Amino acid sequence: MAKLAYVNGRYVPHGDAAVHIEDRGYQFADGVYEVVTIVGGRMIDEEPHLDRLERSLREMEIAMPMSRAVLKMVMRELVRRNGVRSGLLYMQITRGVAPRDHKYPDPSLPRSVVMTTRKADYANNAKFADGVKVITIPDIRWERCDIKTVSLLPNCMGKTMAARAGAYEAWQVDADGMVTEGTSSNAWIVTKDGTLVTRPPTHAILNGITRLSILRLAREQGIPFEERPFSVEEAKSAREAFTSSATSFATPVVQIDDTVVANGKPGSLSRRVFETYMDYCRGLPDQGDAPKAASRRAG
Ligand code: PLP
Repeated sequence: MAKLAYVNGRYVPHGDAAVHIEDRGYQFADGVYEVVTIVGGRMIDEEPHLDRLERSLREMEIAMPMSRAVLKMVMRELVRRNGVRSGLLYMQITRGVAPRDHKYPDPSLPRSVVMTTRKADYANNAKFADGVKVITIPDIRWERCDIKTVSLLPNCMGKTMAARAGAYEAWQVDADGMVTEGTSSNAWIVTKDGTLVTRPPTHAILNGITRLSILRLAREQGIPFEERPFSVEEAKSAREAFTSSATSFATPVVQIDDTVVANGKPGSLSRRVFETYMDYCRGLPDQGDAPKAASRRAG
């Protein structure tokens, strides 16, 4: 079966999926998105992702295109139709299609809703076991990085710079020399006394859903943490470092620019955070299989 995408009320072959050339997402990056990871058929942190989606839409004065319940039904249906047990669901909502004009159109304009899925094998990924290199770059983005908009050009530039330097990610740095976040992940260090440190969720960063889950798990497990900015120098001399996102979980960072972090191996607390987070993902209810299992039992 060909892979399907959801576009404005229809499930269409991925290769044919398209929106209009005057979609404001295409013209102005006037839209928001979410990425939800799927592990063992489970959508990880679905509700917090939808909370953040609704917040991003509110901040941009875009009304929800459909109720949350219907949105969830579409998400499930696309994941089911595409048979995704391990991978991700991408969802994008834009202000809709209107003649090109900078000012917002009438808010009753139907919003554009697009969803795609991608399969990924998270179990066999060397970066989780070996760790990754990050580079540091100036943060040249705008002052509302807390909104998950599709306006990602500086992030794309940064990620390309990282790839060209043989690195996995670029950690962005503000004018005071403090790390804000990665181009598609939140930055963390572990201090010499074993405290997790990550930047507080102001307008300078996206408040990662993985970041929030890791903080909650740390609280539950009694792992000390601090939400405060840290400098590039502090990161380079930290005991450990890692970077978190829905699809990279908590990936250990073993090199920052030319500086090897500690002994160049993933640290023990980073590994513990990764394992704790993966256990959490594996333990969530399996939304995809629940109805099928029930009907099999009934039959
Ligand atoms: N920061 C940025 C700029 C991102 O783009 C992302 C994810 O795409 C994150 C942080 C991590 O967010 P989450 O954990 O919700 O994936």
